[in-house]
Amino acid sequence: MTDLAELIAVLERAYPPALAESWDAVGLVCGDPAEPVRRVLVCVDPVAETVAEALDRGAQLIVAHHPLLLRGVHGVPANTAKGSLVHRLIRNGIALLCAHTNADSASPGVSDALAAALGLRVLRPLRPNPDGSTGIGRIGELAEPEPLSVFTQRVADALPATVPGVRAAGDPDRLIRTVAVSGGAGDGYLLDATGAGVDAFVTADLRHHPAGEHLASRAGGAVPALVDVAHWASEWPWCEQAADILRTATNGTVEVLVSTCRTDPWTVTATARSPLNTGRS
Ligand SMILES: [Zn+2]
Repeated sequence: MTDLAELIAVLERAYPPALAESWDAVGLVCGDPAEPVRRVLVCVDPVAETVAEALDRGAQLIVAHHPLLLRGVHGVPANTAKGSLVHRLIRNGIALLCAHTNADSASPGVSDALAAALGLRVLRPLRPNPDGSTGIGRIGELAEPEPLSVFTQRVADALPATVPGVRAAGDPDRLIRTVAVSGGAGDGYLLDATGAGVDAFVTADLRHHPAGEHLASRAGGAVPALVDVAHWASEWPWCEQAADILRTATNGTVEVLVSTCRTDPWTVTATARSPLNTGRS
């Protein structure tokens, strides 16, 4: 019988808590390390849908990428959204462990899983840690160059479907060979991608001003084309990576499931039917 403490040790070897950013909150949120675990559910978001999924599928542990309680918490009353989740977890004997920026910085980590999903051969970190060990994001290359339009379709096909889909900024015909990737919100790494001289940067949550200023900054030549994907989709490939680490470490004695819930928040998109529609009548 495998207890929770053994699984925590496995995950902390793969995703050392010391790699987490200082503002982050990683590790065990609730659960008794002495209790047995027979089934694990790995997901990106610890939210009502994935807690319900863990209950439905009989898991005793949820391993999530995002923290449930990131900011200071003074109570977990059940009439709040997060408090009710904590109650539901504890009442049903389900532990929750979060591996966030420690999983981003680990090797392999979140961006290795994203790079692998896109068919990239990883060359180096996008922003190495000061000690040069690992770091945030990855730089990789495609086996063969392909136009940005084709590469964007590759990204869409490689990741789970979301309502917003995938969008790109740059010349659709530009040939893409070297690619930087950063799972999750990555506009803080635009300068790193430009400095690396890659053809494209794949990340999530790109905003108007940082993206526009990046594209306008092509003083010294072409800047990387941008490929913006849904935050959840960019981190979802990590779930299978973490699941495999747990399966291997427990020799298959613990059943490890990957969540099938799409927890991307967006549910509707629309584009104007007239190309000249300015929103005024
Ligand atoms: Zn994230």
